[in-house]
Amino acid sequence: MGHNDELKELYDLARRAMECQADLGHREIIFEAGMKKQKPIDPSPKIPAATATTLLEEAASVVEIAQFAGLEEHRAAICDCHKCPLGDTRTKFVYGVGNPQAKIMFIGEAPGRDEDLQGEPFVGRAGKLLDKILVAIGFARQDVYIANILKCRPPNNRDPQPDEMHLCIPYLKEQIRLIHPQMICALGRIASHGLLETTTPLGRLRKVWHRFEDTPLLVTYHPAALLRFPEYKRDTWEDMQLLKAEYDRINAI
Ligand code: SF4
Repeated sequence: MGHNDELKELYDLARRAMECQADLGHREIIFEAGMKKQKPIDPSPKIPAATATTLLEEAASVVEIAQFAGLEEHRAAICDCHKCPLGDTRTKFVYGVGNPQAKIMFIGEAPGRDEDLQGEPFVGRAGKLLDKILVAIGFARQDVYIANILKCRPPNNRDPQPDEMHLCIPYLKEQIRLIHPQMICALGRIASHGLLETTTPLGRLRKVWHRFEDTPLLVTYHPAALLRFPEYKRDTWEDMQLLKAEYDRINAI
């Protein structure tokens, strides 16, 4: 790539970050010198594949507590799950997407209509807004990992039920163990309550670092809530700055 191409790429990256920050309601546009193109994801699995076939033959309870060699083996073992009634009504199982070695995981509540049709989390309007939020703090979707508490869509986008979350969350725990992120960002009330096992209002959970098992966890609004209540964008931007500051602190050379 020539010098001019590199300059153009840097200019485009800066412009996109500025647009996304402005879109989130930030009055001062921030472009950090450290925002640079992320390294491409290594497509090769970090741990050799081996055990999926064997595990698939075991009982569901064994699958639930098993430790897998990688995300693909785990996905293959659970993608036909029917532990709760949502397994019968889903169109597609929605496992998660992103960098298997991500340092940040974003976790929402459950697939919606678009996600159910495409089999990928956060692909509708809320997903596009999440992409903008990520760009605003210097990340692309493929740099982080995105998942939900539930892998299957609740009919008519109703709230996930406690028993459904109870049955599905062991799958998420195994994803977190395999990815081993430095931090988790819980998106919205349901994800925050499900992960933190609390009923404290979301507004009082924000701005404080919690822990999900051993992993630091920050809470913010779900992008779908920002579409309905744009006045939450400023709070979300503050949460994202907190997340990015902690990321930079941990990863400072
Ligand atoms: S929501 Fe979770 S527990 Fe229920 S069927 Fe889907 S994968 Fe299984």
